[in-house]
Amino acid sequence: MTAGSAIQIPSRLPLLLTHEGVLLPGSTMRTSVDSPRNMQLVRSRLLKGTSLRSTIIGVIPNTSDPTSDCDDLPSLHRIGTAALAVQVVGSNWPKPRYTLLVTGLCRFQILQLLKEKPYPVAEVEQLDRLEQFTNQHKSEEELGELSEQFYKYAVQLVEMLDMSVPAVAKLRHLLDNLPREALPDILTSIIRTSNQEKLQILDAVRLEERFKVTIPLLVRQIEGLKLLQKTRKPKQDDDKRVVAIRPNRRISHIPSTTEDEEEEEDHDDVVMLEKKIRTSSMSEQALKVCLKEIKRLKKMPQSMPEYALTRNYLELMVELPWNKSTKDRLEIRAARILLDNDHYAMEKLKKRVLEYLAVRQLKNNLKGPILCFVGPPGVGKTSVGRSIAKTLGREFHRIALGGVCDQSDIRGHRRTYVGSMPGRIINGLKTVGVNNPVFLLDEVDKLGKSLQGDPAAALLEVLDPEQNHSFTDHYLNVAFDLSQVLFIATANTTATIPPALLDRMEIIQVPGYTQEEKIEIAHRHLIPKQLEQHGLTPQQIQIPQVTTLDIITRYTREAGVRSLDRKLGAICRAVAVKVAEGQHKETKSDRAEVGEEDCKEHVTEDAKTESISDTADLALPPEMPILIDFHALKDILGPPMYEKEVSERLSQPGVAIGLAWTPLGGEIMFVEASRMDGEGQLTLTGQLGDVMKESAHLAISWLRSNAKRYQLTNASGSFDLLDNTDIHLHFPAGAVTKDGPSAGVTIVTCLASLFSERLVCSDVAMTGEITLRGLVLPVGGIKDKVLAAHRAGLKRIIIPRRNEKDLEEIAVNVRQDLTFVMASCLDEVLNAAFDGGFAVKPRVERVNSKL
Ligand code: ADP
Repeated sequence: MTAGSAIQIPSRLPLLLTHEGVLLPGSTMRTSVDSPRNMQLVRSRLLKGTSLRSTIIGVIPNTSDPTSDCDDLPSLHRIGTAALAVQVVGSNWPKPRYTLLVTGLCRFQILQLLKEKPYPVAEVEQLDRLEQFTNQHKSEEELGELSEQFYKYAVQLVEMLDMSVPAVAKLRHLLDNLPREALPDILTSIIRTSNQEKLQILDAVRLEERFKVTIPLLVRQIEGLKLLQKTRKPKQDDDKRVVAIRPNRRISHIPSTTEDEEEEEDHDDVVMLEKKIRTSSMSEQALKVCLKEIKRLKKMPQSMPEYALTRNYLELMVELPWNKSTKDRLEIRAARILLDNDHYAMEKLKKRVLEYLAVRQLKNNLKGPILCFVGPPGVGKTSVGRSIAKTLGREFHRIALGGVCDQSDIRGHRRTYVGSMPGRIINGLKTVGVNNPVFLLDEVDKLGKSLQGDPAAALLEVLDPEQNHSFTDHYLNVAFDLSQVLFIATANTTATIPPALLDRMEIIQVPGYTQEEKIEIAHRHLIPKQLEQHGLTPQQIQIPQVTTLDIITRYTREAGVRSLDRKLGAICRAVAVKVAEGQHKETKSDRAEVGEEDCKEHVTEDAKTESISDTADLALPPEMPILIDFHALKDILGPPMYEKEVSERLSQPGVAIGLAWTPLGGEIMFVEASRMDGEGQLTLTGQLGDVMKESAHLAISWLRSNAKRYQLTNASGSFDLLDNTDIHLHFPAGAVTKDGPSAGVTIVTCLASLFSERLVCSDVAMTGEITLRGLVLPVGGIKDKVLAAHRAGLKRIIIPRRNEKDLEEIAVNVRQDLTFVMASCLDEVLNAAFDGGFAVKPRVERVNSKL
């Protein structure tokens, strides 16, 4: 292809007949192929052909191809465009069909049709030169004035468009670099022209004629653009681009169509948004990002998915409380009163919270530790968090973290994803609308981990006072200052909180309540709350303390007060039905005497409470107040769920009561053992963890090595306890996995009872880890365990001596009810567990019989 040599198209060309669209040399067109002849051409020529020549076809415009290949070929348009098939895309469904991408090369004229089937082929004559455009000077000279005029208009048109758009810049470049003779075809395919006009240009084989036909089209386009720009407000040049890339707007039409109006409205919205951004108090960095985004938004057509995305983003940025905060009104005395009023007991927690608030009042910054309340469910952790917000006069927001296993939940998704959104922290800030709320991170111990990253790691940044002034949510992509937010966390156990997170927080244990505390909480807080919720008054229902105690001991077994609250709710519901029924009867019978007005009072609840004092006698049916005694309790809640089973279960040797700690509070745990003939095997059941299994082996080993000392024998009287004997140890509540070393002393006691055939005292519970040499080591969760023993009505508790200090945390009334035995070795445990001790003494009878 040397410079100046003309490139020739083949003299025989297969013909593609198109009905819609006119392909001009130098432009590209996509056309669909579905008629039989055209399909044949694609199949046998384009798909099978291997040379470049085979991809050159003749495109004949304005000629519809017959739908059946038997039909005669219609008369063909005389002039066509030789084209290069650049791409063939096919699909077979719902019917076979191809789409062809063709680029026009040059004009040709049909000389003679050579064949019609399976697709038409014609002998053609090339009309345009197809050259490497190197002979610019020559063409300029030839065309002279006409070409100059055309060029001027073309430049004017392109300059009206937005040069920052790459396609426009490229067009400008082409104008300067292409030979002028190529320009009419190219520009006609860019500007808005009808098919008929394009056909005219195609038919204009002489260059001069082509210029003449194209110039009015260019002028028309320029005028149209001018008109449109005039009708729009004088705005940024960006709009030119919007004009240019809107394909279906009739530029030459009257400007104020409804479409335009809609766009105006949208534009107004965007302007409003920009105003909001400028007036909002966001950080400098955020402002910069927002202004950049709004600039992009203005240039973007609304149909683009990114438009909505960007807009949502900007709206969120405007809504976020960058600088908006509530004023703290902190008065320690008032805070103490409020905390005391809202919550009974929990002295330690309230004390620490007040200390925390006092330091805040003096120092006025939050760079203290993050408080984390750890305790069983229903002990008021969330509710204390809410009270803290109330005392500070701050907004409160709870973020439930249970089950969260994706770090995007905390940090948000990057905006590149469809459906991306900010994380929970930023969302929470948007919800409360201020930048200094109290955020309660609920259940931090239940954070999960998954392939989507570790949410706990994301929380680290949020909770670190040194870092959180520039917390960057992935969605926002700019830093947000979280340093004013007061974070409080809650958890059921510290065991599953990731260590790094634990390190950032100050743990405050919130143990379960004693029965007395629960009674007080019920009467001071829960019952009044339930009465109010059910529209009842104390004149209508009375729950004496003994009944509350019954509910606590026989219908609930929990460390907190949540199910107690539910049971009280159930009672209130049942009473509400009775009261409503009673009122109905009352109103019916009284109607004649009392009259309509009073009847209304009975029905509306608000009026009811107010009218109690003056119309009490009338409003209350005779049996009021309904007294909830044990029978009523049975009627409403059904038979008691928990009975005191302790003494029953300890009626045979081989059973001992241990104390266990669970995230739901302390529990008492029966350990059962039995022996049978066998080969010295130990069977353990009840879903035990490895540590617990080891404790069982330790216990057996210790007992075997001390069997002689304690005169423990197997069934056949041998001191080798496992000789011909199998032992089975079971920990009931088999569905719950148990682990931990603290059952050691209980297993020893249980086995000692089995082998000595003596009963363990029925009011003793114990906890403690053992060593092989018979020492008792300290364990955790003493307070919860003691409360559980107290709930179960046990009287004596054996704990490791080194746990003695933990008893100070236990309420005095509970301590008074219980006797504590401090044990530092297993001898002491056994002595305390059995009536009359478990002293080392010879078994007189057996010794006698041997003699
Ligand atoms: P948690 O967050 O520990 O699971 P909640 O804070 O949800 O428990 O408490 C459950 C219910 O018990 C709440 O209605 C709360 O008001 C009530 N409650 C718990 N402890 C107390 C208390 N000491 N005084 C008054 N109400 C309490």
